[in-house]
Formats: sequence, C-alpha cells, structure tokens
Amino acid sequence: MSKSYDVIVIGAGPAGYVAAIRCAQLGLNTVCIDNWLNEEGKSSLGGTCLNVGCIPSKALLESSEHYDQLLNQYVNHGIHAENISIDISVMQKRKQKVVDELTSGISALFKANKIKKISGHGRLLANKQVEIISSNKGKTTTISAEHIILAPGSRPVKIAAAPQDDEKIVDSTGALAFQSVPKRLGIIGAGAIGLEVGSIWRRLGAEVVILEAQDHFLSIADEQISRMALKQYKSQGLDIRLGACVTATKTHSQTVTITYRDTEGESTLKVDKLVVAVGRRPNSENIYASESGLLVNEGGFIHVNERCETNLPGVYAIGDVVRGPMLAHKGSEEGVAVAQTIAGLHGQVNYDIIPSVIYTQPEVAWVGRTEQALRSSEEKIKIGTFPFAANGRARAMGSANGLVKIITNAETDRILGVHILGPNASELIAEATLAIEFSASAEDLVDTIHAHPTLSEAMHEAALAVDNRALHQINKAIKQE
Ligand code: FAD
Ligand code: AMP
Repeated sequence: MSKSYDVIVIGAGPAGYVAAIRCAQLGLNTVCIDNWLNEEGKSSLGGTCLNVGCIPSKALLESSEHYDQLLNQYVNHGIHAENISIDISVMQKRKQKVVDELTSGISALFKANKIKKISGHGRLLANKQVEIISSNKGKTTTISAEHIILAPGSRPVKIAAAPQDDEKIVDSTGALAFQSVPKRLGIIGAGAIGLEVGSIWRRLGAEVVILEAQDHFLSIADEQISRMALKQYKSQGLDIRLGACVTATKTHSQTVTITYRDTEGESTLKVDKLVVAVGRRPNSENIYASESGLLVNEGGFIHVNERCETNLPGVYAIGDVVRGPMLAHKGSEEGVAVAQTIAGLHGQVNYDIIPSVIYTQPEVAWVGRTEQALRSSEEKIKIGTFPFAANGRARAMGSANGLVKIITNAETDRILGVHILGPNASELIAEATLAIEFSASAEDLVDTIHAHPTLSEAMHEAALAVDNRALHQINKAIKQE
C-alpha cells in the first residue's frame, strides 16, 4: 500500500513551500516534492523565486547600484575613487551565496516544521495518488493524501523569432548568470524582468537596447507613472524602442543580428548578447496524468475557483500555475489561504490588493487601481500627488526623482489606488497596501503621523494633496496673489 499523508505539495517555490509550512503549523502531516536541482545537481528549495528570480535579480541590482553610485554619484558627496573596477565573478559568487543561504534556510524551516521533503518529479494520478520519480535514482513510487496542492510554477516563454542557444541568446536565468559585461545587450520585452535585467547590465557598462512590441510602455501601471518612468530609464541610457516587434534573429560566431518591425518598417540591430524576456508560461504539462481528470485552461493555467480549488475535490493549485499576476507574494498568500481552508479555517486572498513592484532606480510600485482604469469605469475620483523633489529625505539621499500619487473616491475619500515612482517605492507601497486593506481614506493617512525626515512623508503629503492641502508644495486650488 502507498504511504499516505494529510497533504502533498508539489513544488517548493514561494507558493508551495509557504503552503507546506502553514499546513505543518496547523498540524497536518505534510510532504513537499520538488524537482529543482542547482548547478551542482543538488536539490535547492525555493523555486524560480529564490534560485533564478526575485532573489538573484535583487542581489545583482544591489551590486550594480553600488557600482553605478561609486562611478556617478559619490563624487557629489565629495567621495573620490580612482581605478574603479568591478569583478563580475565576485559579484556572481556573492549572488550565489545569497541564493544558497536562503534556499538552505527553507530546508531548515522544513526540518523544524517536520515537513518531509522529497527531491523528485511529482505527478497527479487519479484518486489523489501522486507518482514520484526521484531526482537521484529515477526510482518511481506512489503516495497519496487527503489533500493535494499543485504549485509547479512557471518558466520563461520562448519565441520562434529568437531561439535560445543559452550562450548568445538567453532567457532571464542566463541573463542573471553572465560572467562578463556584454558590450551590446539586446532585450526583447520591456516588462519588469526586461527592465530589471537591462538596468543591471546598463549600470555595469553595457549598451542596452530594449525592444518592446507594444506601443505603450508599462501598460499595466498608471499611465502618468509609466510616462515618468520611461523618461527616467531613457536618461539612464536604456534605449527603449516601443512598437518594435522582433521578427527574426540570426546568430554569428560572436554576435546576434536582430530583425524587428516598427512603424518605420523593418530594421536590424547587432548585439553581443540577447535576452528574451517576453513573459512566463505555467508549468502544467507534466504535473498531471490525463486519467486524473484535472482541468487545465487553454493557456496552460490550471483551472481554479476563487479558493484555489481545482475541479477535483481536495486538489488545489496555487502560484504562477493559476490565474492572477505571476508574483511570489501572490503565490505565498494563496499557499496560506489553501492551508487554512484545508484545516477548516478561514482562507482567502484579496486579489484586488496585490502590490506590484519594479526594482529599477527609481523603483516603481503600485497597489489598487490605476487612474486610466478608474476613469474608464467612470468612477468619480480625486487625485493627490507629491513629488520626491519636495521631500527632505529624498533630497538628502540625492534620490529625488518621481512622485507619490494617491487616487480616492471623490465622495467617500476611500483610497482606490496608490502609485509610486521613487526611491524605496518597494517599501513605501506597504503603507498604501495596508491602507487599502483596511479600507482607509486619504483622511486616515492625513491623521497618521509620519516620522520626519522620511520618504514616507511623501505619502502623507500626497494624502493631504487629495484635498489640495499639501504643506510642502503649492496647491493648485490656492490662488497666488
Ligand atoms: P516557482 O517559484 O516557479 O516554483 C515552482 C517549483 O516547483 C520549482 O522549484 C519547480 O522546479 C518545481 N516543480 C515544477 N513542476 C514540478 C513537478 N512536477 N514535481 C516537482 N517539482 C516541480 N516575483 C516577485 O513577486 N517579485 C520579484 O521581484 C520577482 N522577480 C523576478 C525576477 C525574475 C528574473 C523572474 C524570472 C521572476 C521574478 N518574479 C518575481 C516572479 C516569481 O519568481 C514567481 O512569481 C514565483 O517564483 C512563483 O512562485 P511559484 O511557487 O508559483 O513557482
Ligand atoms: P512581461 O510579460 O510583463 O514580462 O512583459 C513581456 C513583454 O514582452 C510584453 O510587454 C510583450 O509585449 C513583449 N513582447 C512579446 N513578444 C515580443 C516580440 N516578439 N518583440 C518585442 N516585444 C515582445
């Protein structure tokens, strides 16, 4: 007879590992199967996020930011340095150390929570059975559980116009592993990943061209913020070409020729490396046997209801493999919610209040609805904005580009959306997320004392600006004699 558990989790990314931890906390006998192997062929928990996504990208953004600051900004503080150089292999080793420490941290959490970890490929069979092919010996076993959580994540989309050779044409994983700075770097796709990867290598000296098929830049963000961000990125030397659809690539011994089409017709561009960053697709193909009866949508997303239940009772799916934004924290929240549901507790994700962040410099962060979405729904709104140029802390930091924008319902004053372009926007957005979660009004933010001098005062001032009473900018409604 196959071994039986309360819960089997397939996938140990931020969705799956968090689900497993919460299940174990709630007293459920839990096993987590994951097939990720690192370059040494060893199991490495944490999925895309920890191994080749959120964490390594932020480690390299940090390194490249220090280098850029030393080259271009420290002089403003009177700090002079000569013969500045960067050793990319040291930078990459540091990145790997950060990754290794965090991935082994998850193993320790599993151990402490008595979660059984299996390195192998899991596949859902009929009747809540799961087949496992072990990573090391390829041995097949079958286990079963009352509840199964599928969290297999996603992988980069490939396009026929730019077939990857893992040397000159790479995906985001390859772009985070370059061992030298490419002289000319092409990137297809100006989404969060394309912009972050572009920023890393631009700061380190690459000439970066980003080709984006859409005419509108960052169309998921608030238009005002996207426009301002585009200006900033261009001023940093990121050559972002919009309406430019890549149709073909040709690799030569040292270079890649890219052909793309825009309103002016067909153009070519020669680069040393090309990164394909055109989105990600769900890993659903090998996660289930057809006899399981699992329903998967056309795009490869596992069909789920608002509680992440699939069409099979007792089988759940979470993270990048189901609808919603492909973000680590969205998957983790779903993991917690499903664990709670399994344990008979309340479990729910508020999909309207998921913060988004792009970790460029300045950072872009938002939560709630955009101005364009609210205007098209004809909701009556009020908007308050406050520029970081008028914020003392941002000035002291020498990082005063961007603004905070708060959108409220004109009648109730309830906050509907907050959009930030600026320093530490990724941290500042937490206040806005909390405010929206608690159905706060702009007045609630106004009544909240913000420490001085902090960047968060820009949030306070933007809330004041909703009613034209910002203290550190000239309000439009006040007539100047
Ligand atoms: P994954 O993290 O993809 O994990 C799935 C795991 O399941 C993997 O370990 C996989 O090997 C394993 N698996 C798959 N199939 C099986 C199977 N059949 N059997 C056993 N194991 C299986 N998101 C953010 O929120 N913030 C960021 O800053 C951010 N930056 C990113 C930067 C980059 C470069 C990339 C690529 C992504 C980034 N993301 C970011 C997105 C984030 O990584 C994903 O949204 C997140 O990892 C999804 O979590 P998940 O648990 O659903 O899947
Ligand atoms: P995201 O899905 O947010 O990571 O962004 C990926 C981006 O890649 C989207 O904005 C797409 O419009 C863009 N994209 C997809 N295919 C192409 C292509 N062939 N040429 C240029 N841009 C593309």
